[in-house]
Amino acid sequence: MSGLFKKWFAPKCPVCQKPLAADREPVCHVKKCPDGHYREESYYTLGVRVTYHYNSNEQRE
Ligand SMILES: [Zn+2]
Repeated sequence: MSGLFKKWFAPKCPVCQKPLAADREPVCHVKKCPDGHYREESYYTLGVRVTYHYNSNEQRE
């Protein structure tokens, strides 16, 4: 049970398997790969979670 909990709180990048870095922003909670492969935004107020995957073809703003 604690293992499941740990997995939930310590997600890894699906590309490089590094632990995601957590960041808190005013409107959402962000978890992202330190190398920029993956980004997840959780909007508490909207109940929405958005994930971004950055693969070989990088598309950045
Ligand atoms: Zn990565």
